[in-house]
Formats: sequence, structure tokens, C-alpha cells
Amino acid sequence: MSISATLKKHNVSAGPAILPQSVFEEAAQAVLDFNGVGLSILEMSHRSKEYGAVVDEAVSLIREIGGIDDSYEILFLTGGASSQFYMAPMNLLNENETAAYVNTGTWSTKAIKEVENFGNAVEIASSKDKGFSYIPKGYDVPSDAVYLHTTSNNTISGTEYQSTPASNGVPIICDMSSNMFSRPIEVEKYGMIYAGAQKNIGPAGVTLVIIKKDWLGRAKRSIPTMLNYSTHAAKGSMFNTPPAYPIYVLMLTMRWLKAQGGLKGIEQHNIEKANLLYNEIDSNPLFKGTVAKEDRSRMNVTFLPTDQELTDTFIDMATEAGINGIKGHRSVGGFRASIYNAMQKESVQVLVDVMRECGRKFG
Ligand SMILES: *Cc1c(COP(=O)(O)O)cnc(C)c1O
Repeated sequence: MSISATLKKHNVSAGPAILPQSVFEEAAQAVLDFNGVGLSILEMSHRSKEYGAVVDEAVSLIREIGGIDDSYEILFLTGGASSQFYMAPMNLLNENETAAYVNTGTWSTKAIKEVENFGNAVEIASSKDKGFSYIPKGYDVPSDAVYLHTTSNNTISGTEYQSTPASNGVPIICDMSSNMFSRPIEVEKYGMIYAGAQKNIGPAGVTLVIIKKDWLGRAKRSIPTMLNYSTHAAKGSMFNTPPAYPIYVLMLTMRWLKAQGGLKGIEQHNIEKANLLYNEIDSNPLFKGTVAKEDRSRMNVTFLPTDQELTDTFIDMATEAGINGIKGHRSVGGFRASIYNAMQKESVQVLVDVMRECGRKFG
């Protein structure tokens, strides 16, 4: 019934994405019998004592790993990171107020579009002029902005902020979907952090929202109950049936992350994997990177063949070696290797070996 380690693919897909193998195994076991209770986790009441303990542990692990104190609420919501594009301005921005946005790609473009329903968005910087291949620097954040919205890692173009964005003291709202908990975070600079779980911290179906408690109820408009952060904060994400199984798998992933040495430990691992791959891209004449070197993502590594004709050949060779999902996003082309927290260095080495073999054959 189980898939042997030799058959398991090296999954570099952008999301839903790889999770630790031990998490897959524990999650599979809990579907059959949760902790010897005699029930599948899928059939357990979200109001049961056993399930309550799962949510409590998930919240406390997130607080511990992220260094997130009680001035922030930890929420498990549905609707994906995409719903946060509108929920944030709906809950936080009054009609006559302004929020500042840095446009670093597809996802931030979508986030900006949603603001017009609730208030004013000013795009204070953008890297659209060069196909989102860099992170804009040296912009001014208006001091009257309610928040500055940024996207810490750009899953499609392959760029990442290497430090907390300058914000002129304005609280930051950050879409961290694709690099959440892959490196330490200066939490106190943020008013809100959100992440669809399916890139780095769990399966699809749950969205993590970390929000400053004193921001709850900020916007003075009437908000539908289910779209109001206060509703979910007041009930510990249990106002209605939460995405119970995704939260459980996220909790298991947090246990695993803690055992890796938390954010410092996983950052070291992620740096080593990214260096291994970027070094090959820079030294192998058949490949070239697509973004400014100082802004390269440790999570989503985008690269092109120097000879277009080799695109399909390389994808075939990688597939043959057991690599899944290497084809680049259609807007960038070429290749994208998503090497999230759970990706083993050995799997990155398999990819590097295929690149070298390609170099030997066609270089
Ligand atoms: C995938 C992704 C999203 C969209 O997430 P959904 O959960 O599918 O709505 C938003 N932002 C970033 C940075 C992403 O990578």
C-alpha cells in the first residue's frame, strides 16, 4: 500500500507542494485512526476534546516557532490567500483612507485590484517594467498610509525580499504564502501576515492569518459575519466548521519544523539548497537565471535554457530522473524548481546532476 522511497518523486511543483515525508505518513495514519481514538480524523467533531487539542497545539507551535506574542491573533481561515486580498482592505481600510502597495508580480497585482472596493490603493513601487525580475528598492511610503502591503516571495517570477521591507514605520501587511516560515521574521514590523498553507506550511484548504489584535474592528463598515476577522478571532477559528484536516496536517508540519531547529535551522537548510542550485545555474553554460541576483528566491528558483530548443529535452531528462513539476510558469517560461522547506538537499542534487548531464550531452 505504501510507496517506497525509491518510487517517490522529487516534487518541485509550486503548490500544492511537497511536505515532509513523515508528515504524509502521520497524516495518512490519522485518516485511518486518530491517535488510537477509534475514529478517523475526517469524521471527528471539530468540537471534540481531541480535535480542540489539535488546534491549540497548532496555535502554540506557530507562536513558538514564529516568536509571535499575545498581541497578535492566529487565525485559520478558508478561501485561500486570494481571499485575503479583499478581506484585508475590507476589515482594515476605511473608504477615505489609503494603503500603500509594492507591486512585485502576479499576486500583488491581484491584491491591489481588490482595494478599490473599500478604499484607496497607491502603488508606491513596481518591478513590472522588467517583468517583475527584481524587488523595487528606495521607494517612499506615505506616512498616512494605514498599511504597506508587500509580497515577501514571488512564487511565479522567483524573487524574494532578503530583509524586512522598509516601511517608514507604517505597519506591513505581507503575503508570505510561498516563503512562510522558511526564514526568521521580524514579526513586530507587521500588522498582519497571511499565507495560503499549500506552498510551505501545510495542504491546500487552510489560510493562516496572523493579525495584530488592536487592528480587529478597524474599518467602520458593515462586514458580513464570515468575512469579519473579529468573528473568527472571538471563536478561536471555530465560529463555523474550520478546515479541520488541513489544520491537522499544518500542525504536524509545525511539529516537524520545530524539530528542524525552527526558523534558524530551516533557513540554513534552505540557503544550502538554494546555493547548490544557483551555483549550477551560474556555472553551467546551458542555463541562465531570470532575476536580479540579489533578489533571488530561496523557494522558487526560476531559470531558462540558453538554447530555447533544449527546453523540452531538459524537461524530459528531469522527468526521467523522477523530478516532477519542473516546467516554468507560462509567464516566465523555461524552468521553475520550487524547493520549499520540506525539499531534501538530495533532491536538489538530483536536479543539479540532470543539469550537468545535460551540459555534457549538449554543451
Ligand atoms: C499561491 C499564492 C497565492 C494564492 O493562494 P491561494 O491560496 O490559491 O488563493 C497568493 N500569493 C502568493 C504569493 C502565492 O504564492
